[in-house]
Amino acid sequence: GTIQIKTERSSYPVILEEGAIKKLPARIRELQPEVTSILYIIDKTVHTLHHDYIKEFYPEHKNIHVYIIPSGESAKSFKVYEDVLGFALKAGLDRHSLIVACGGGATGDLAGFVAASYMRGIRFIQVPTTILAHDSAVGGKVAINHSLGKNMVGSFHQPSAVIYDIHFLTSLPDEEIKSGFAEVIKHAIIADHDWLQELMETMPSFTSLTSQKLEIFLKKGIEVKAGIVEQDEKELGIRAFLNFGHTYGHAIEAWAGYSKWSHGASVMVGMIYALLLSSRLKNLSFETTSFINWIKELGYEIVPPEDAAFEDLLTLMRKDKKTIANEIRFVLLEEIGQPVVEKVSINDLVLTDKQIRRLKG
Ligand code: NAD
Ligand code: ZN
Repeated sequence: GTIQIKTERSSYPVILEEGAIKKLPARIRELQPEVTSILYIIDKTVHTLHHDYIKEFYPEHKNIHVYIIPSGESAKSFKVYEDVLGFALKAGLDRHSLIVACGGGATGDLAGFVAASYMRGIRFIQVPTTILAHDSAVGGKVAINHSLGKNMVGSFHQPSAVIYDIHFLTSLPDEEIKSGFAEVIKHAIIADHDWLQELMETMPSFTSLTSQKLEIFLKKGIEVKAGIVEQDEKELGIRAFLNFGHTYGHAIEAWAGYSKWSHGASVMVGMIYALLLSSRLKNLSFETTSFINWIKELGYEIVPPEDAAFEDLLTLMRKDKKTIANEIRFVLLEEIGQPVVEKVSINDLVLTDKQIRRLKG
């Protein structure tokens, strides 16, 4: 199916289905002004696994270029950014050229930032290949990493379309499914109590997740994200709700050096932390215990790494974008589906940190 995303200055479709990539040539033909040349930027692993499939649906077009980038996060570097720009310049891409990003969130972020900055901005289409990318491909945030911080150099640049072909997801390793699905669960928690209940009741494990169900859940997740982004494209207000679980979660991810703990695994612990904090501060009536048991059943970690001291996590949390005047802010829940952003005292943070660590065993 198609979800139409409307932002202040643009409107674009997210085409989500098995075989969606078949619709890429038609979408490119529709673009005005006409596309002069196309640069496919493809994640190395995705290229190895799926290039035969991708190239079946190259538009009939004279100027198609392909650039393969390193797999995953390592693509979001100044080096790769410069290499891709060099390739684009040599290939003669002009202002009417198009970039097609084919890979996970890392590919989308890098390719999107290339598109945002090449000749002050050219169009791009996202072809996401991970579950997590249901989140990252929608919303127009693009960025690369600086050695001093993740996503520190970037822009807002909306794609001309998101072509989300479920076919790619069949080759995803279990760890990537788990990581990406954490954001699906996040979308349910911040927006839809009934959907969260449905997830908890009908999905005791990832083996029970059929591709039909996954497609429905991804669609719901995209609708939640789109609904929020449409109201707050530049993250001045409610877009912060999407940050649920990310304050404590990012701290874990950064503490682990963005390697051993995946984004989703870190955010999942961050969400449990934020739920406990919400029970403490907002009288959240939701049964966190059954949620935590379900999460455990799904195979997620539910506690932070033992040797990550609270003080270290606190230092990292202070760097959060929501921090204002040195006061740490959290996305909390009054109820499932009713997030608020609030300042939290260090004492409450300490107590909740102790509480989450007691869940171990
Ligand atoms: P990723 O792009 O690093 O991909 C994860 C791994 O899966 C990589 O090793 C990749 O090679 C592999 N892979 C990708 N597709 C595959 C497939 N179909 N089959 C097998 N392997 C495949 O990670 P991700 O989890 O998709 O995205 C994480 C990135 O997204 C981070 O850089 C994060 O900062 C970013 N992000 C951006 C936003 C945003 O709004 N822009 C939001 C959330 C996350
Ligand atoms: Zn996230």
